[in-house]
Amino acid sequence: MKGLLYLVPSPIGNLQEVSPRAIDVLKSVDFIACEDTRNTSHLLSLLNINKKCISCHEHNEASSSEGIISQILEGKSVAYLSDAGYPCISDPGYLLTLKSIENDIQIVPLSGPNAFLNALVGSGIDTSHFLFYGFLDSKTSGREKELENLKDFPYTLIFYEAPHRINDTLKSMYKVLGNRKITIARELTKKFEEFIRSDLKTLVDENREYLGELVIVLDKSKNCDNNGTYLSEVNKLLDAGYSVKDAINIVSILFGANKNKLKRELINKD
Ligand code: SAM
Repeated sequence: MKGLLYLVPSPIGNLQEVSPRAIDVLKSVDFIACEDTRNTSHLLSLLNINKKCISCHEHNEASSSEGIISQILEGKSVAYLSDAGYPCISDPGYLLTLKSIENDIQIVPLSGPNAFLNALVGSGIDTSHFLFYGFLDSKTSGREKELENLKDFPYTLIFYEAPHRINDTLKSMYKVLGNRKITIARELTKKFEEFIRSDLKTLVDENREYLGELVIVLDKSKNCDNNGTYLSEVNKLLDAGYSVKDAINIVSILFGANKNKLKRELINKD
């Protein structure tokens, strides 16, 4: 019988967030595969778990996952951990998961720590729909091109960023997206956890120093007004000669906007 692949989230700064279930799984598996054997061995020693760790990271995931999968196919169960938070979320693990699925291996993801969800729920920015983007390109031109693609996205945007790049990233965001509500969540789950709730222009003007680990949560496109409708988009199409019916249909398809709300907004405007 085949073994299982457990995807085990690790703490993003607070050891108390290792769940009892994660500890049980780490104790029960035949071996552990991880992004960095030194980091995971350190975590295991703090948890009093003595288990063999093998490395499977960004640069060797393709070859290393072959060996891991053949052991699972022989009946061994494995837990995979990245350095912090969920494997596969801006971290290695995706290839191993994909190849395991291709080999009909059961994947068991555990619940646990993750930086962007903590940032989002503490941000005070609309949580009803959101896009987690992860890291933007480190080069200004690439970053601004990516932001152009996100400019009209009508939902909350979430990014990971390094402290030494954040001011450049905020400048690019302000330049491409205009002023928006923003929350920067720092050092989540740690002693100096902080939520900086502001707007892009203020933070760009301040050019302050940010220390520690950061998540950026940005409010949705201004095209989406406070009622969650997209009147400005409808108006652009009306100006271009579309009928009211067509304009509303197009905007509802493109942005997932509610047709009835749009109709009411148009009527109230006149
Ligand atoms: N796999 C992780 C997860 O599930 O959140 C993310 C790993 S990614 C390589 C690391 C980035 O996550 C950091 O650069 C930072 O943007 C964010 N991050 C991780 N830990 C954090 C923390 N304690 N506070 C704020 N952001 C954090």
